[in-house]
Amino acid sequence: MKLPIYMDHAATTPCDPRVVEAMLPYFTEKFGNPGSRNHRFGWDSEAAVDKAREQAAALIGAQPKEVIFTSGSTEGNNLAIKGAAYMYERAPAGSANRGHIITVLHEHKAVLDPCKRLMKEGFDVTFLTPPEDGVITAEMVKGAMRDDTILVTIMWANNEIGTINEIPAIGKLCHERDVIFHTDATQWVGKMPVDVARDEVDLMSWSGHKMYGPKGVGGLYVRRRRPRVRLVSQIDGGGQERGFRSGTLNVTGIVGFGKACELSAAEMESDRDRLLGMRNHLEQTLLERIPHSKLNGNQEKRLPHITNISFGYVEGEGLMMAVKDIACSSGSACTSASLEPSYVLKALGVGDDLAHSSLRLSLGRWTSQEEVDFAIEGITTAVQKLRELSPLWDMFQEGIDINAIEWQAH
Ligand SMILES: *Cc1c(COP(=O)(O)O)cnc(C)c1O
Repeated sequence: MKLPIYMDHAATTPCDPRVVEAMLPYFTEKFGNPGSRNHRFGWDSEAAVDKAREQAAALIGAQPKEVIFTSGSTEGNNLAIKGAAYMYERAPAGSANRGHIITVLHEHKAVLDPCKRLMKEGFDVTFLTPPEDGVITAEMVKGAMRDDTILVTIMWANNEIGTINEIPAIGKLCHERDVIFHTDATQWVGKMPVDVARDEVDLMSWSGHKMYGPKGVGGLYVRRRRPRVRLVSQIDGGGQERGFRSGTLNVTGIVGFGKACELSAAEMESDRDRLLGMRNHLEQTLLERIPHSKLNGNQEKRLPHITNISFGYVEGEGLMMAVKDIACSSGSACTSASLEPSYVLKALGVGDDLAHSSLRLSLGRWTSQEEVDFAIEGITTAVQKLRELSPLWDMFQEGIDINAIEWQAH
């Protein structure tokens, strides 16, 4: 076993060797521009892009024409959210209320920040507060709907806690009200089945590097029928990708992305069963062995390969240092000046201390049982050691109510 072990697949995944193999010829001998209509080089690249579009579409039950290649989910989210807002606005730029948008506080920044920009530009945005278990239901969205709502954007599964929102039901609600529905499905596609017709999504972003494909390439599904969704393009130029997204196509990346989609479709079920078994073993053992540890997010409605656990009475930075042979994410985000508790955990009502002392462990296609056992031992030992050094743990053991202490102000 090679150290450090990798348990951060929700941040990015390694490229599958079969993906790399498919990509290689497109760096060298097959280097044509798919926009070159007059020669073999262009035709070959165009054929490769067509094939990838079919592979991507097949994974989600779409028509190939409904898949737009992007540079990843950040771009896909921006194009979907801004592109739909500008297309379906109820009043032009400069007006006070250009339209109402619904999203959620624990979305990825690549959704929140485009929404915040639209807010500055005269759109009204509702940021729903998630319940403690993190799951957004259609009822919650229904309660926020207004006559002037033009767009709902809600992620399929959360990247920090893995919780799954009620996507088909939310899609149905939006369709009943003629509201455009976008979902950031970056953590979902390739891991769980999607059928865009059944699931009633209009716009859906996903990304190669979260599903064993290359970085810098992704897909945006844009519905073409019932309703035909239109978008204002965000990158203008040569008119590639039906004018939605200009720029010479990243043929190599797109070929890899297509291959990754094909492999995921074929291996999704077996990956899922194996990862679920390992994740549950990891999670249950940690929760059993470590007192005052708590799972974050709904236990059932959750992706099979992610767990997020808070460990009480340990200090967050110390915990990260102590588990440095286990590559994972903490509940702290480094901002320029300080360590901020995760805004996702905060939105669920997790206190700052517990948020800082949380770990997100996410398993992947090549995670081994040996690595899971290593993580269990490593984390258990780290928490025990840190608690032995912790004055808070001492006080807690002595029965002192920490919340009742008046800390000296500084
Ligand atoms: C990783 C991630 C993104 C960003 O995707 P990129 O392809 O890296 O731009 C957006 N949303 C979610 C939920 C993610 O997990």
